[in-house]
This record gives sequence, structure tokens and C-alpha cells, in this order.
Amino acid sequence: MTLATVPQYNSERTSIRGEHAVVLGAGMAGLLAARAVADAFDEVTIIERDSLPDEPADRRGVPQGRHVHVMLEAGKATLEDLFPGYRRDLLSAGGLEIDGACDVNFYAEGDFLADGPHHLPHYAATRPLYEQLVRHRVADCDGVELRSRCQFRDYLIDEAATTVEGVVFTNEAAAVEECDATLVIDATGRTSRTPAWLESHGYTPPPLDEVHIDLAYSTLVLQRPAADHRSFVMTLSPSHPRAAGVLPVEGDRWLVTVAGVHGDHPPTDPDGFGEFVASLPIPDIERLLEAYPRVSNDIAHYPFPSNLRHRYETLDRFPDGLVVIGDGIASFNPLYGQGMSVAALEALVLHQVLATGGLEGLAPRFFARSSEIIDVAWTMAVGSDHRFPQTTGPKPRGTGLMSRYIARLNRKAHTDGALRDAFLRVMMLERPPTTLLHPGVVWRVLQPSRRLA
Ligand SMILES: Cc1cc2nc3c(=O)[nH]c(=O)nc-3n(C[C@H](O)[C@H](O)[C@H](O)COP(=O)(O)OP(=O)(O)OC[C@H]3O[C@@H](n4cnc5c(N)ncnc54)[C@H](O)[C@@H]3O)c2cc1C
Repeated sequence: MTLATVPQYNSERTSIRGEHAVVLGAGMAGLLAARAVADAFDEVTIIERDSLPDEPADRRGVPQGRHVHVMLEAGKATLEDLFPGYRRDLLSAGGLEIDGACDVNFYAEGDFLADGPHHLPHYAATRPLYEQLVRHRVADCDGVELRSRCQFRDYLIDEAATTVEGVVFTNEAAAVEECDATLVIDATGRTSRTPAWLESHGYTPPPLDEVHIDLAYSTLVLQRPAADHRSFVMTLSPSHPRAAGVLPVEGDRWLVTVAGVHGDHPPTDPDGFGEFVASLPIPDIERLLEAYPRVSNDIAHYPFPSNLRHRYETLDRFPDGLVVIGDGIASFNPLYGQGMSVAALEALVLHQVLATGGLEGLAPRFFARSSEIIDVAWTMAVGSDHRFPQTTGPKPRGTGLMSRYIARLNRKAHTDGALRDAFLRVMMLERPPTTLLHPGVVWRVLQPSRRLA
């Protein structure tokens, strides 16, 4: 499922009135889940380990927030749905809106893609800004309480071990506190302890699909002239195995992120970073580095060993009163920019399954619907990762053929803007991948290239 097929948010559609929902983690998935359930519960408590800044600042629990975060169309549209006026808030906080059809210099398969025929507005801002604006809007919802500096420790389960009834956590004063809940939502991210907890409480943990890519990111921040909105995306392929992204963000800055896979990790010292950038097949990013001052010499680094997918949808037994969302279910190679948008679509699904069936069998219904969203994002990310022979782990069926087709589509898109448009709308989780197989698209992709006389 993509944005085109996930039912949109509708505040009228709430069939239950639960007492108390607890959300673990105030990352994007936790905040969006809290918003989605706030209509159905009298109280929603979000428990977050970090101290949460008022301003859009980096924080310890989300170290990836220092790197380029792309908001795909699926996430952008859902944010506006859940928080009307989000775009206005983002732009007035200094975030930008750029046109994905022509403002983004998109390099793939050996050249830049031609400009697309249709306007494709998308945001350019830092992850801390996206999150801070969402956090403020969620904190303003009736009945929502955000408790920072509180660390989740354990679930409370009934005697029959069939229903999660609350949580144990260390509170702001470092004391152990318990609280009851009708529903607990685990949004603690990639390091979620729910699989281990299930195992230690007599449940089968979800099967894990792990696809090793051994990726690392390094990011440096440049000062940017206010009117200069240049941005670059450089995808990788076995013939060009290094990636880069340059994004104009609030505060007249550019985030410059570079990445490499299978151990080819970008350095964290300015000279090494510069050499890595100079090795890229396009000179544009090196020119930016030479022309504009750095905000500091600090270079953030993030290793990402593998894509992880916990197959909760396959479990026969799962406790009532609990669901997992966001990176806790699936954490994708970040080069495809999907995590926040998948979390947003999952929040819509949570809203939908609560509205249609209440708490009865909530987890299996939620996991089944979410898996349809994850399938699309997972197949795209892992399918591309498997183009590298060193990649190990389960390979979704048909990905080899699809990857070759998309590589050819990208080469054709060097001169055909309509193909750029078709490709980006799928990458942005706006339209399903099957749209790339519509006869009009296939015809453009398979047409023999015109030879120059
Ligand atoms: C380098 C990198 C770049 C990325 N780029 C993009 C991108 O371009 N676009 C995109 O959409 N996505 C991107 N992502 C993915 C994106 O960051 C996540 O998918 C998205 O934020 C959803 O994550 P989450 O909320 O599930 O988990 P997280 O963001 O990890 O949040 C988990 C939260 O839970 C809290 N927590 C953890 N344990 C506890 C505990 N015991 N008690 C209380 N609180 C706890 C943490 O402090 C944190 O606040 C990127 C990821 C990485 C690693």
C-alpha cells in the first residue's frame, strides 16, 4: 500500500473510547501514533527517555537526526492530514519547499535526470525541525501528556499472560513508576525490546529478515546564501557505489551527506570528507564545499549495518493491548528516505483499524495492514541493496528483474522527464510500483535508444 491506497485520516471515524493509551518513544513514529490514537482515548501518555528541547535541536535518542532526512510525498501529505497547517508552520520556521521536478539535481545511472513535466513540491528541512513541529502539535492535543526523561523498563502483563495492561518505567525523578494502560504502543525504534520480551514471556518472537548492507553516513553543514536552494541527490549503483545528498535547510544552511556501502565508509575528518566528495562522479558538491564556509568542522557519522524487518504479521499469538510501530517493525536502508513516511502511513493504518474494529484483535489487524505498506518500501530498499553482490540476506522475489528495469528507466529518464516523474512518484510512496509497469511507461523504457548520426 502507498499514499494512494491507505485510507486518509477522518476525525469522525472513532468507534471506541478507551481510557488510557501509552506510547513508548517520542520519535516520529511515536508522535504520529499518539496523534492517531488521541481521538479514541481519554488520555494518551508519551514516555520518552530524552530530555526534549523546545527548539529544533539534535538529541541523543535520535542520532540519525543530524543527517539529511528527506520527507517523501506520503509523509508530507499525511502530516498535513493529521496536523492541518503543518506546511505553513514548517515554512514559517524557515523550512523550504522545493520542486522535486526541477529544483533537485537528481543523479542516477551515470547522469542527471531530465526535469519532470509536473510540479512535485517537497520539503527541505532538518529532522529536528520536522519532529519539533510535530511534537508541539501533539502536545497540544486534548488528553495528551508528554513525559520526557522517563525510561521504559517493562510491560505489565495479566496473570494469564495474554494481555499487556500497562508499563513500568523510570520517571523524571529516577523513581520506578507503573501505569495502567488499555493500549501500549512500542515506538522505541530499531532497538525495540519487544521481540526479546515476547520470547521471555512464552511467546514466539517475530521472525527477523535482516539484509546486510554495511552502510555509513557522514554529514557536514555548510553556510548557504538565503536565496540559493540548490539541492542534489546522487543514488548509488554497483558502478557508482558512493551516494550523496545536499539539502538546503532552515537557518540558511546546507546539509551535505555522503555515504558508502559494504565497508566503503566516508571519513569524519574534513580532509578525508573532502577527498570522498572529490571521488564522486559529479563535481558540483566539491564546488559547493570549496565555495561556501562550513558551519563547523564537526562531521556527524552514522553506521547502518543492515535493513531489519520483524515479521509480526506472521505470528499466531501476540498479547492483546500491545502494538509495535515505526522502526521497531522495520528499519530500512536510509538512502531511500522512507522511514518517517512509512511511520506516517502506519499511524493512518492504526487510526483506521481502531475506527473499524476497536481494540478487538487490534495487533493482528494492524500488523497485517502495515505489512502491506512495509512490503512496498522494503522491496524497493532491499531490492536495490541486492544489486551489490556483497549484500546478504533474504531477497524478495522478482527484485533482480525489477532492479534492472528501474536502472534502464533511470537511464531513459536522462532525456525523458515523464519517466523521472513516474519514478519519483513511486519512490515517494505516493503511487504503487505497479504504475511503473503501465503500458505508457513500459513503452518509453523499452524503446531503443536513438543513436546519434
Ligand atoms: C542515517 C539515517 C538517515 C535517515 N534518513 C531518513 C530520510 O531521509 N527520510 C526518512 O523518512 N527517514 C530517514 N531515516 C529513518 C527515520 O529516522 C526513522 O525511520 C523514523 O524517524 C522513524 O523512527 P522511529 O520513530 O520508529 O524511531 P526513532 O527515531 O529511533 O525514535 C525512537 C524514540 O524512542 C526513544 N526511546 C528508545 N528507547 C526508549 C526507552 N526505553 N524509553 C523511552 N524512550 C525510548 C528514543 O529516545 C527516540 O526518541 C533515516 C535513518 C537513519 C539512520
